[in-house]
Amino acid sequence: MTLSSIPAQAVSRSAGAGLELRSDATQLRSDFPVLAREVHGRRLVYLDNAATSLKPQSVIDAVTEYYSEGSANVHRGVHLLSQEATTAYDAAREKARGFLGAAQASEVIFAHGTTSAINLVARSWGDAHVGAGDEILVTVMEHHSNFVPWQMLAQRVGATLRVVPLDPTGAVDLGAYVRLLTARTRLVAVSHASNVLGTVAPVSEIVRLAHAKGARVLVDGAQSAPHLPIDVRQLGCDWFVCSGHKMLGPTGVGLLYGPLEVLDEMPPYEGGGGMIGQVSLEGTSYATAPSRFEAGTPPIASVLGLGAAIDYWNGLDRPTVFEQEANLMAYAEERLTTVPGLRIAGHAAQRVSVIAFTLGDIHPHDIGTVLDTEGVAIRAGHHCAQPLMRFLGLQSTARASFSFYNTRDDVDALVMGLARVRRMFA
Ligand code: PLP
Repeated sequence: MTLSSIPAQAVSRSAGAGLELRSDATQLRSDFPVLAREVHGRRLVYLDNAATSLKPQSVIDAVTEYYSEGSANVHRGVHLLSQEATTAYDAAREKARGFLGAAQASEVIFAHGTTSAINLVARSWGDAHVGAGDEILVTVMEHHSNFVPWQMLAQRVGATLRVVPLDPTGAVDLGAYVRLLTARTRLVAVSHASNVLGTVAPVSEIVRLAHAKGARVLVDGAQSAPHLPIDVRQLGCDWFVCSGHKMLGPTGVGLLYGPLEVLDEMPPYEGGGGMIGQVSLEGTSYATAPSRFEAGTPPIASVLGLGAAIDYWNGLDRPTVFEQEANLMAYAEERLTTVPGLRIAGHAAQRVSVIAFTLGDIHPHDIGTVLDTEGVAIRAGHHCAQPLMRFLGLQSTARASFSFYNTRDDVDALVMGLARVRRMFA
């Protein structure tokens, strides 16, 4: 019997110390209060998880508790409230270390999100280590957040940005990657998973090949962190970045991982309180990582909320919930292909649960607007991936993206909604 043939309710693994790991989607749904609300008089069918995930009550409680019971600043106070906040803040970093599989908590920096983490690396490491004549490699499926900061860096320092195409299935074209990777390549920046096609990039292989040429690799894990087991040491990357709000946490916080030897190569990015060793009129010495990259008061409530989100992940039987998600994705593809005129973009062998599609020549915004009246929330547009859209020969698409709390009923509601869209526009 394979895991997928066992009913979810029957699967219960132990986290050790008597803690039962959870995997029953129906039970898990009740942890997310927003799923109880109605939209336009209909049950909410939330299929916009790639934009941001829903938040379980425990995350909402962690944020509220910080503000209601101890809204003190971290690292600077001798009073009890500040000490409690500092302990909780440091504990969240340790939780993030565990989530990412990093060796040490000091290798994990709290950034404001994926975008700010990438900009930090581009400004700090990039300005110090990339120069005229050097090359930066990205893939054509990058989100603008993993494209524009490198384009800006290239323009600042006189480097060249090179772009790896996809093969006809939507997978990263490894042959082209090998051809584009040269002794001039200083950095490779790649999405672990595409926010449009769902394509999972062969990151370990990309890293191995880049390191053989002396290039560093940044992995954008915004879409992989909520859908794949993450082990930064196994990936071997130089940086891994992700956003709290896409992995059950609050907005305003994200993770930047780098091995200490890589972080040590990075000059400070922003100056201010908390990132210094000594300050005098003559000059300033800087703290080591992670403090060197966390100038100013950090987003404490969001960090504590992210810690609670990681606790939530740790309470899930992740292999089972990810497998259920893969089964749901297969069901969604099967059902969607029955809709006349619907075309799914991208069929790479390895994908996370994101489906971008077009429906005849109906504008994706019309699709999204009609579905909204049915209570079905999807996204429509270029998904901050205009180079990819151009590569695919599309202006925009509709996109349904799933999480472990979605069910077959949600897929059925999407398919019924699309039938209504067709009646109205086709
Ligand atoms: N990278 C990818 C692959 C994304 O999907 C997103 C957001 O959708 C980002 C980066 C940017 O994330 P944030 O807006 O949280 O910084």
